[in-house]
Amino acid sequence: MTVISETSSPVYDVSRVRADFPILAERIHGKRLAFLDTAASSQRPLSVIEAVNDYERHHHANIHRGVYQLSQRATDRFEGSRERVREFLNARSEREIIFTRGTTEAINLVANTWGQSLKPGDEILITWMEHHANIVPWQMLCERTGALLKVIPMTRRGELDMDAFEQLLSPRTRLLACTAVSNALGTVLPLPTLIAAARRHGALVLVDAAQAVAHQRLDVQTLDCDFLAFSGHKLYGPTGIGVLYAREAILRTLPPWQGGGDMILTVSFTKTTYNDLPYRFEAGTPNISGAVGLAAAIDYLLTLGIEAVAHHEHQLLEHATERLQRIEGLTIIGEAAHKTGVISFTLEDIHPHDLGTILDSEGVAVRTGHHCAMPVMEFFDVPATARASFGCYSCNEDIDQLIGALGRAREVFG
Ligand code: PMP
Repeated sequence: MTVISETSSPVYDVSRVRADFPILAERIHGKRLAFLDTAASSQRPLSVIEAVNDYERHHHANIHRGVYQLSQRATDRFEGSRERVREFLNARSEREIIFTRGTTEAINLVANTWGQSLKPGDEILITWMEHHANIVPWQMLCERTGALLKVIPMTRRGELDMDAFEQLLSPRTRLLACTAVSNALGTVLPLPTLIAAARRHGALVLVDAAQAVAHQRLDVQTLDCDFLAFSGHKLYGPTGIGVLYAREAILRTLPPWQGGGDMILTVSFTKTTYNDLPYRFEAGTPNISGAVGLAAAIDYLLTLGIEAVAHHEHQLLEHATERLQRIEGLTIIGEAAHKTGVISFTLEDIHPHDLGTILDSEGVAVRTGHHCAMPVMEFFDVPATARASFGCYSCNEDIDQLIGALGRAREVFG
């Protein structure tokens, strides 16, 4: 595996990083693959693929209940992965780390447990640039409880309107649920400022870290958030595994959500008692190999160095932005001062889906559509955008290929 130290200022050797990702050698319509859709799902390095493979070949059994050796090996690996996640987020205890299917399930878990305490007139504050996963669960909760959903507006550049934010906070605000990075615009939100302001008003804070987790360090103690959610597949890990971090003192007060095996201590027809944290919130057999793969993905990213990767992605962002801006008729949607490696754009009046199809025929994989952020599309008055996004393996050649393919699209639709 490529080793790039975080402390020395590293020369980032992207070709060595790319060699860790077998899928990048795939040919698409006979062309080189320029994979520019990491924001939707990142690719997996060999070390993750092999960790999952090793688990499946040598260690699988159901966890927690077995006295036989194989089950203990599987349990050790699953719980070892939890410890790896705890360390990664700097949570105080493993009791604060709940494995979920992903960010979406983690947010729904909070809405369905903590959310039960909401009363009519309580307020939940979200931002205009949330993914649907951080909108719809709160809307559903508000419908059930009579609480109100308030939305912090944004500016034309795609930045949060901080004055409006301050005005929306009040003693009625029970929760600020906000993304760390917008998946549609790439905007990095000023989490420390947002969290400090929410705290002053006595509100809890949930951070949707789906788009941030692979690009910035997330230390839950420094951030001082109450909940944080992310998905393994945005972090070079498998799909179907994710994490909810929740402050232990809060978790202890929450009712269980899904009922079933593993989340109980005793069951009788008259009374059921519940398991300790975090198992109380993990009903049923979990995605064991997914957790093993997630731990391997964390190891991989930390070996590259999050800061080194983020620096590399930022250089690509600047380079791609500059090149795209030179294309006549191309409009970049989202021009925040602080962005991750995500560029949304439209090209003249070519529908983004048509554009995506032409780009695909040139081997370029970009996402087109509303990116599960329909309010953002409505705000910018576009039905959809094309979105190029970068990861640790993205390179200048990918950008050259994108620019070339956009030229081809203009010929076809010109
Ligand atoms: N929030 C954000 C900001 C996202 O980008 C995504 C994935 N596109 C999600 C939530 C949902 O993640 P998942 O589908 O893995 O649950």
